[in-house]
Amino acid sequence: MSLAEQLYKLQQVDLELQRGQLELDEVENRLSDNQALVAAESKLASQEEQLEGVRKKQKSSEWELEDLQEKVRRIDSKLYGGKTKDPKELVNLEKEVKGLKSQIRPKEDVLLGLMSQVEEIEAEVKITAEDIEQLKREWNQRQETLGRRKSEIETVLAKLRGERNRLEQQIDSEALNTYERIKLTRRQAVVKVEGGKCQGCHITVPTSQWQKAKAGDLIQCTSCSRIMYLE
Ligand SMILES: [Zn+2]
Repeated sequence: MSLAEQLYKLQQVDLELQRGQLELDEVENRLSDNQALVAAESKLASQEEQLEGVRKKQKSSEWELEDLQEKVRRIDSKLYGGKTKDPKELVNLEKEVKGLKSQIRPKEDVLLGLMSQVEEIEAEVKITAEDIEQLKREWNQRQETLGRRKSEIETVLAKLRGERNRLEQQIDSEALNTYERIKLTRRQAVVKVEGGKCQGCHITVPTSQWQKAKAGDLIQCTSCSRIMYLE
């Protein structure tokens, strides 16, 4: 096997390693991507906070209303209990009770409004909580499938690394250095010569050059420096 062919085989392994590594990175990114879940959880937290706020308002509105109703009851019992006989006081009590009663209706409306707000937010909270459950199920499923895929890729990569080591040991170290140096700037350090042209830069290769390459010498393209490989 010529040096160029050995390097070409090494390059094939390197390209597969690269592809595998890219896929592994993507799988790992997707494994750790929980943005949707984080967003849903923060939405739930703010909805719950909102709910708590409205519930507090509802409570204090209920207390205010009870307070008013209690006051009305006390005056009513004075008015109709028969203990108060003074007509002037009775008139004042009636006035007072009328004033209090006129406050009850708007407060009831406020309370009803708050109660329906609570119901609405509770419904929203329920939906978000269900969304979160769904996202968690999806997340677990994804962890399982992607986790499996990850270990498959890792197995393949380990095999490829073994293969690479094996090939590397068979290749002349100077040739290997040349290959590694070109690889720093070129995706492919070894290219085929087809139709007399370097497949890296598409320049026509002088006959003497590709004949040397065909004979097994390690020849680099004069234009792009890639190692030429003739089958
Ligand atoms: Zn070239």
